[in-house]
Amino acid sequence: MKYDCDLITDLLPLYKDDVCSASSKMIVEEHLAECDDCKKLLGALNDNTIDETFKKEKEDVIHSQAKFFKRKSVKAGSIISLILAVPILICFIVDIANGGGLSWFFIVLAAMLIPASLIVVPLMTKENRFFKTFMSFTASLIVLLAVCCLYSHGNWFFVATTSVLFGLTVVFSPFICFGRPVKDILGNKKGLAIIGADSLTFLLLITCVELTNNDPESLKTMLTILLPNLAIVWLIFAIFRYLPANTLVKIGSTMSVLGLYTWFGTLVTARMTSAANSNGVISYYLPSVSLLIVILAIGAMLIAGGIIFALVKGGKKNEKA
Ligand SMILES: [Zn+2]
Repeated sequence: MKYDCDLITDLLPLYKDDVCSASSKMIVEEHLAECDDCKKLLGALNDNTIDETFKKEKEDVIHSQAKFFKRKSVKAGSIISLILAVPILICFIVDIANGGGLSWFFIVLAAMLIPASLIVVPLMTKENRFFKTFMSFTASLIVLLAVCCLYSHGNWFFVATTSVLFGLTVVFSPFICFGRPVKDILGNKKGLAIIGADSLTFLLLITCVELTNNDPESLKTMLTILLPNLAIVWLIFAIFRYLPANTLVKIGSTMSVLGLYTWFGTLVTARMTSAANSNGVISYYLPSVSLLIVILAIGAMLIAGGIIFALVKGGKKNEKA
């Protein structure tokens, strides 16, 4: 035989798919005429059995690699846990030796939960990694705040915790709501959940700040200002999310709502902060009515434009049908 079987075996897949050069094709055919082994191999290739074998082998390799990395990451996670345990152990021993209670032990223990939640949790978990990491990070942060507040005899725990929760919610709630497993639970209520969580943590924060200051009157004023602002945010969200209309109508409606809100808001604020002058006359700044009319007119034009656009589009669709 002129050529080695190994060379022909390499060429066979190309020959089978008819993508080799004319000279290679000739070499293969010449060889096949004399070699039963390679002929059999070509038959097997045509049966796709080899493809299947390769596919299975590839899957096996990927699977074993994944297993290998999983084992490695679990190992790395365990080692990091041990390293994090060292300062905890040292503080425990020092606290015991000093005999003054376990304050440093608990503070360092709580502090070490944070790197553990950020490093060990993602290494050790397989599914919903982001969700689990975020949850354990938040929980460990709250534990640390609680321990520090307890040992410093402070009264700032609720303010600190609600601030942290509000900040985390604003930044991470979209990622949490659009990631597994939360997105499957929420379905098409993700936007509602995000704005709901933001509002709730915000109100919690304000309430905690005011209650810590122990000033119910100030809380009342705060809520009087905040609730209408929150309501307008919800209203705009509702317009964009649920109004069954096109974007032009939505923008027009939002503009009109904001115009009216700003006008009334300015009026109410002016009245609330107004005081009688030396002559006993109460005067306050009146928001511009003409500006309001201009804004409402533009809003109405946008809405009208949106409706006309929708009608024309609907008419064209009917014509086509
Ligand atoms: Zn051969």
